[in-house]
Amino acid sequence: MKKDKPQGQGILIKIIVLLFIIFMCGLIFIKFQQDNDPNRIIEEQKNEIFSNIDKTNTVKVTKFFTYGTHFNIEGTIDIVKISGIKIDFVDVVLKNLNGEEIATKADFNYVDNTLAFATSSEINSGINLEELSVNDYYILLKVTYSNSDIKYYALENSSEYQEINYYTISKDNKVNIYFDTYNETPYMYINVKEEALPEDVYDIAIDPGHGGRDKGSKFGEYKESEITLNYALKLKTELENLGLKVFLSRDGSESENEDTTSNMYDEDGRINILNASKAKLLVSLHIDNDKYNKEKGGIEVYAPSNSNLEFASNLAKNLVEHSGSYYSEMNSFKKADGVYVRNYTNADIEALNSRASKNGYEPYNITTSTPYLYIIRETGGIATNAYVDGRNKSYGTNKYYNSNCGIEAYSIQLGYMGIQKDIDNIISKPDSYIAGIVQSVKEYYNLD
Ligand SMILES: [Zn+2]
Repeated sequence: MKKDKPQGQGILIKIIVLLFIIFMCGLIFIKFQQDNDPNRIIEEQKNEIFSNIDKTNTVKVTKFFTYGTHFNIEGTIDIVKISGIKIDFVDVVLKNLNGEEIATKADFNYVDNTLAFATSSEINSGINLEELSVNDYYILLKVTYSNSDIKYYALENSSEYQEINYYTISKDNKVNIYFDTYNETPYMYINVKEEALPEDVYDIAIDPGHGGRDKGSKFGEYKESEITLNYALKLKTELENLGLKVFLSRDGSESENEDTTSNMYDEDGRINILNASKAKLLVSLHIDNDKYNKEKGGIEVYAPSNSNLEFASNLAKNLVEHSGSYYSEMNSFKKADGVYVRNYTNADIEALNSRASKNGYEPYNITTSTPYLYIIRETGGIATNAYVDGRNKSYGTNKYYNSNCGIEAYSIQLGYMGIQKDIDNIISKPDSYIAGIVQSVKEYYNLD
């Protein structure tokens, strides 16, 4: 009995020490968890980004859109001029939570304390959405002053658009662009995550010219609508072999009586279904017999206005090299070998305006930089000044005329129907022309 007491005390002390150690371990564990809590880390990184933003003023984003694979922003911000200090550079930066920056130099203009900027003057340049890796990005305006000061400004939405959802061509990524606020500071945001293409979204669209009742140009037994369809079906297979998802504006199942010209702006007409495909690239195939080129023939690629001509130039070159055909010698609208940009002329605009007043509708807002070819203009949304909004009652409506997600569209004249050597080459060597188109697509999107 006497010995029991100290023994019992010893056990009690041991238990107390053990409980204390367990308690301390618990504290250390909780602290460790707090330090590594992903939400807390994100919050700290977010704070870091937002604490570096100059809160004296905010950028008003007046326009944002995608065209093909590229994204562009336009906006303004009021900055009070400090005497002796100029603005040297303006960049739109994408900042991720690790503080890494992807900068795109913007064109800008600073007059009367207002800075206006645009990421690119070319609709198919700017920020390449294909190159963004899976991550979150805050979009900020970075202004570099002549005294080496650098200031970051937040972006708020002053446009009529809410967001953009974009699906990449080469990777299964979804890009979501939208606006939000953090502690009362507005921001523009890009989230890139892995997500496969939805069923109704395509990579590339092919438009075989004409169809149904409209046979296009004819030459002996040959009909343009039949040749372009044959080419489109072969091209679709070749592009699918590259792993691309391809949409056709018609596949030959249309009725011989269907009027594909006058139903173009119907709900299921060529223009609305092409826009609904959300493709990044569109090629329209033609072999016309145009007044401009009746004698000489050759290959012509029509490109959008205000665009860089990289794809168009390469396409014309690859078509000529593979098929053994030649560049058209037509000089009107010519920009480079085989490359054409056809816009409305002042005479065209006058004619359209007088038609509008005759038929009692408000004239369209058309300028000399509006694309003349409907297939290029009406699939590009606001980037190409699409305008068929239903005011002219003799047409239907392009539901996507005001879209801020445009398809980068090109119209190809494979040759001329009335020129014997063109038609001989087109009929005997379809695979060579198609190889030229496929190679151009591969090069443009860096596909293997
Ligand atoms: Zn045609």
